Amino acid sequence: MNYTKISLALALGSTMGWAQTAEIGTWAGFRKAATSFTFDDNAPNHVTHAAPAFDEYGYKATFNLVVNWNPDWSGFQKMADNGHEIASHSNTHGQNMSGEEASSKKSIEGKIKQKYGTITVAYPNCNVPGMDALKANYIAGRICGNGQEVMGKDGPSDWFRVPAHMTGTTGSFNNTNAFTGAMQQAIQKGGWVMFLTHGFSNAGNNGNANYSPTDLNAIKGALKWANQNDKEIWVTTFRSATMYIKERKASKIEAQDGGAEGTMTFELKHNIADNISKYDYPLSIRVKSDWKKVEVTQDGAALESKIDGGYIYFDAVPNAGKIVVKNADAPAPESSSSAEPESSSSSEAVESSSSVTALPIQAFDDRHTSAYVDASGYITVQNAQGLNITVFNSLGNVVRSTKGIGCEQKVFSGAKGMYVVKIGSKAWTLNIK
Ligand SMILES: [Zn+2]
Repeated sequence: MNYTKISLALALGSTMGWAQTAEIGTWAGFRKAATSFTFDDNAPNHVTHAAPAFDEYGYKATFNLVVNWNPDWSGFQKMADNGHEIASHSNTHGQNMSGEEASSKKSIEGKIKQKYGTITVAYPNCNVPGMDALKANYIAGRICGNGQEVMGKDGPSDWFRVPAHMTGTTGSFNNTNAFTGAMQQAIQKGGWVMFLTHGFSNAGNNGNANYSPTDLNAIKGALKWANQNDKEIWVTTFRSATMYIKERKASKIEAQDGGAEGTMTFELKHNIADNISKYDYPLSIRVKSDWKKVEVTQDGAALESKIDGGYIYFDAVPNAGKIVVKNADAPAPESSSSAEPESSSSSEAVESSSSVTALPIQAFDDRHTSAYVDASGYITVQNAQGLNITVFNSLGNVVRSTKGIGCEQKVFSGAKGMYVVKIGSKAWTLNIK
């Protein structure tokens, strides 16, 4: 009987490749849509009020700074270290930022350390400067509203004219329903919607961000709704959404023949080349399989995985080495590094995502490596490429040992409680709630 099976597999292998099909998710986590919140004009309350509203759920946003408007550099650096994006909104906020494309980027990079530096831009007064200077410095640029704010899965028609709904008193986006309505449209379309906010009508100091103040509670309500619908909508930065779309459109995942029995091997590759980003944001992958327990690695690094509805899910980094999915149900006693070390249902950690809070980060290094708990309850690291990563539970036992790949990486999901994450020689204490 085994012989028959093997023959069939070989026959299939020779004619059409292994019957292993892997798909790349349209959005991270195979969600249906994405949304990005962007904040202009470096209001002090972006640091004191906006970031904490996002941090409550492990969500990340984009903050566009005007270099000459005295940003709270250390406050924004802490936000960058926690995964938020700090981007350019010019030096002087003139009518057109022409001539400040490169210099504003350099100035911000001199103050704010983040992977790839400053790689997106929002144009002051929504006027698009010269395309050559933009393309030499940024992967994408944001305008204001243009009637096409709810984009499709492949994003805008022009990466340097990415539209966003203007929020606040000048328009209709000043209550939670307006935000959730736009997010629902994005879900229906399978697409992406961006928002553009300045200061707030009711929270802290707006500084120079006086235009069209927004009710902070409208945004808080929108984030609460997004968290309740976290399986449908991905809340992420302008930068990450842009990288994800470009990588997904350019990437192929292909099964490799001839692996050991009980393993599947894949290559995930793209050939995007520019001098701004490596495009190593992890793409969400799923593989159809009836295996009950798996170990997934890429270039030898253990990846988080889960099994749900006949699929194996994991995130992998393009151009970062061979992906091996191993059936771990076979007798291999000591290694049990699939997604759930203690609980029974492998999708539980993703489903119970309603109240996740990262504790304050405790340590940084020159690379600004960091660790936090994301909106789905995953301990996530950034800027850890090539470093050893170890996760300990509250008893001090190692629950995950891997190495850093890509610009961002989910390294562990599991039972609620306190964990210590060691990346290289630095450590963070995190709480999965
Ligand atoms: Zn502005």
